[in-house]
Amino acid sequence: MYINGEWLKTTEKIKVVNPATGDIIDEVFAVGQSETDHAIQAASIAFSFWSRTTADERAVFLHKITAKLEEKREYLAELITKEMGKSIHNSRYEVASTISFFKWFAEEARRVYGKTVPASLSNKRIRVDKHPVGVVAAITPWNYPLSMIARKLGPALAAGCTVILKPSKEAPLSAVELFRIFHEVGLPKGVVNLVIGQSGPISQAFMNSSIVRKISFTGSTEVGKQLIRQSADTVKRVSMELGGHAPFIVFEDADIPLAIEGAIQSKFASAGQQCVCANRIYVHDKIYEEFSRGFLEKVERLRVGNGLDEKNQLGAMINQEGVEKVHEQVVDAISKGAKVLCGGTRLTEGAYEKGHFYPPTILTDVHESMVIVHEETFGPVAPLIRFFTEEEVIQKANAIEYGLASYFYTNDLSRMYRVSESLEYGMVGVNDPFPFSVQAPFGGIKESGLGREGGSEGIEEYLSLKMVSVQM
Ligand code: NAD
Repeated sequence: MYINGEWLKTTEKIKVVNPATGDIIDEVFAVGQSETDHAIQAASIAFSFWSRTTADERAVFLHKITAKLEEKREYLAELITKEMGKSIHNSRYEVASTISFFKWFAEEARRVYGKTVPASLSNKRIRVDKHPVGVVAAITPWNYPLSMIARKLGPALAAGCTVILKPSKEAPLSAVELFRIFHEVGLPKGVVNLVIGQSGPISQAFMNSSIVRKISFTGSTEVGKQLIRQSADTVKRVSMELGGHAPFIVFEDADIPLAIEGAIQSKFASAGQQCVCANRIYVHDKIYEEFSRGFLEKVERLRVGNGLDEKNQLGAMINQEGVEKVHEQVVDAISKGAKVLCGGTRLTEGAYEKGHFYPPTILTDVHESMVIVHEETFGPVAPLIRFFTEEEVIQKANAIEYGLASYFYTNDLSRMYRVSESLEYGMVGVNDPFPFSVQAPFGGIKESGLGREGGSEGIEEYLSLKMVSVQM
């Protein structure tokens, strides 16, 4: 617990377990409602001066944070792998992405421009200014325990907001390390505050408080909806980065080896525990056999095991509940006629005995009645679905309440425009399994969320407009 520039202790502790080995790797102090109220007060006092600093002053802090993160790159990558299981390769990527968010928003702070608007009366002048929204409560998930924080705190601090962060108690250690860095670079007291513990009391304190002007949440759609409802009482601004169910479409004119590589990257990074990962792989009938053969050949070569071992491409899953949920979807699909090309059984023996592992799995003959086609999987299972026409696949891809990421592979230029315009998703990757970058707005439509993170749009989430009309 880091409140008002100090590390504080409570009587309750939460154990942090390495999901690959079952070892307890650390303990953190758990906070409740009263400590969270204290953090909100500290953030409120800090807002009165932090919001008045210049963009350049704030940028200096953000650049210092970037430099410290650079120094600790490998240490942080290992910590992420130890606390949530993903492969060290994926964790290194996450650290790089974290650094990029602080760096980008250090510069973006300087580009918060207002505007002047031509008035209809000659004796009036109209100006529109941008101001930080106020105290922000940020809630983040375990699957990207470092970069999801950077995507919120980078722009919030750049905009002049102060923050209370509640990371997931499943993987809170990366957050603690980041706050050590905030302390080392001398961020003023109360500008950033960290509370870890049961989500109920912490979120109640956030929601009841009229000081907290904004909730920025990344997590499941179910919890996101609750928070939107609860925000209504004090009319807080909300940013919601919620669940996804990405279609990955391979058209008959696609470069098949490229599409196979893309599907592997999109599906199996972080052992499939990503909001943007391919959840339905639609393959055109004409190339279905060739694609599945090539995909199987590559997937069978993927190694699963402790993420710290450089040879493993897939690490552990977060916990047994995650493994069971994935396995239930596989069992459901098999019972309704799906065939297993590889994987499909839990890994429980030998090196896997003490951890939570699931093998990369390919299902074929998947159809609409199966749970996996509708519910987020959050695990390494690739369901292949055959399609025959462009209209049919677009209709199927859009027939879901989620609208986060989508992907398609084609070499037809007209189709590239047609399909990207028709997909009802916040993000579309064309021949690109990883269309996400710090410069571009990340986020979803429909039940996948509200607002954007990253890009110039990312900082707008933490700014409000003020119109000033002067009569001369
Ligand atoms: P989750 O919704 O269970 O938890 C997310 C965070 O909210 C955690 O800090 C958790 O402690 C907290 N939380 C849980 N219940 C709460 C409540 N009632 N009130 C307030 N806070 C509460 O999600 P998770 O299992 O940590 O993460 C996986 C989910 O996150 C998936 O659905 C995934 O798609 C989504 N996700 C989305 C994005 C995105 O950018 N759209 C990114 C990563 C993960």
